[in-house]
Amino acid sequence: MSRYPFARIDLAALKYNLQRVRQFAPQSQVMSVIKADAYGHGVIQVAQALKQSDAFAVARLKEAITLRQQGFQQPITVFEGVSTIEEWQLAAEYDLTPVLHQQKHLDFLLKADIKQPFPFMWLMLETGMHRLGLPAPVIEQIIKQLEGRTDLIEKLGLMSHFANSDLVNDARNQQQLAVMQNLAEKSGLAVCMANSAAIISLPASHYQWVRPGLMLYGVSPFADKSGAEVGLKPVMQIISKLIASQQLSAGDEVGYGGQWTAEKTMRMGVVSIGYGDGYSRHLSNAGEVIIRGQRVPVIGRVSMDTICVNLEACPEARLDDEVIIWGTEALTVEWLAEQAGTIPYELLCCVTPRVIREYLDG
Ligand SMILES: *Cc1c(COP(=O)(O)O)cnc(C)c1O
Repeated sequence: MSRYPFARIDLAALKYNLQRVRQFAPQSQVMSVIKADAYGHGVIQVAQALKQSDAFAVARLKEAITLRQQGFQQPITVFEGVSTIEEWQLAAEYDLTPVLHQQKHLDFLLKADIKQPFPFMWLMLETGMHRLGLPAPVIEQIIKQLEGRTDLIEKLGLMSHFANSDLVNDARNQQQLAVMQNLAEKSGLAVCMANSAAIISLPASHYQWVRPGLMLYGVSPFADKSGAEVGLKPVMQIISKLIASQQLSAGDEVGYGGQWTAEKTMRMGVVSIGYGDGYSRHLSNAGEVIIRGQRVPVIGRVSMDTICVNLEACPEARLDDEVIIWGTEALTVEWLAEQAGTIPYELLCCVTPRVIREYLDG
């Protein structure tokens, strides 16, 4: 049975990229971000390949519990934290590391029956993004409140998140950093602030912990630079095949809505990939694929299961040829995301379970 389309996940590249993180931030511990099924790469296999990480991070409690149930013993940070008494007890039971970002959540912790204290908890500081986080005076209050409560929490740290770290030299990054620096000095607590873009471009933000996501998967967080340009190796390659080919005459329309019309006699091909696989419909008349080393354009609308491509530039293309959808230096997911008017994060996360992941280990 045909395995196409499939995603080839290069676990050796993943490990290589973790080493790159350590080169960028040699003084820091690394919390590998593997939320959203490890950015679509498959969380269990990715966590296994990244087991040298000093910690893992996910967004939600259930993602963290899944990792524990699979036997991973590293510290696991839960970015969204826990919001009820029951969740605090569950988090304690599974030995997780929550992020506290709402004062109300603390009230529940104080009421919860915590048998084994949390070894660590992150306090989310609002430094300018205005998403999750508490202002410095509130955090200072919480630090005081938890002082001596080693029955609940053994150690606290400070976390914050950049809103513009992909914009190198943007003054707002310095402003956010200054807010963090101030509280870091006052409190003496460990700090975790840098995501991928800050790891690469803002060494002053590295502190004791860094938390890379995207760069682990070999993808650049910067609009004007590819992963290769910052020394990363792409981890996910999507490969499909040419399942049909047709000769078109001038005036023939291709696909739903006839959004592309042949201007002359020519050959087109049909590739087995569509939005039902996570290939964005925004790539209609905008994407490209690689066949026999040649980039060819997507023509017409992306369908659920197929895309059509213009084979004029690749007359040697044959039925059943492999087609690279993304994930080589010649066709990066960064470039494709820009064509789709989105970011590579979204394209990676949106690959659906219909696309079987195949794991390669070097
Ligand atoms: C997703 C996420 C990260 C990882 O960011 P990248 O840009 O992928 O490196 C770090 N911190 C928080 C809070 C996140 O939600």
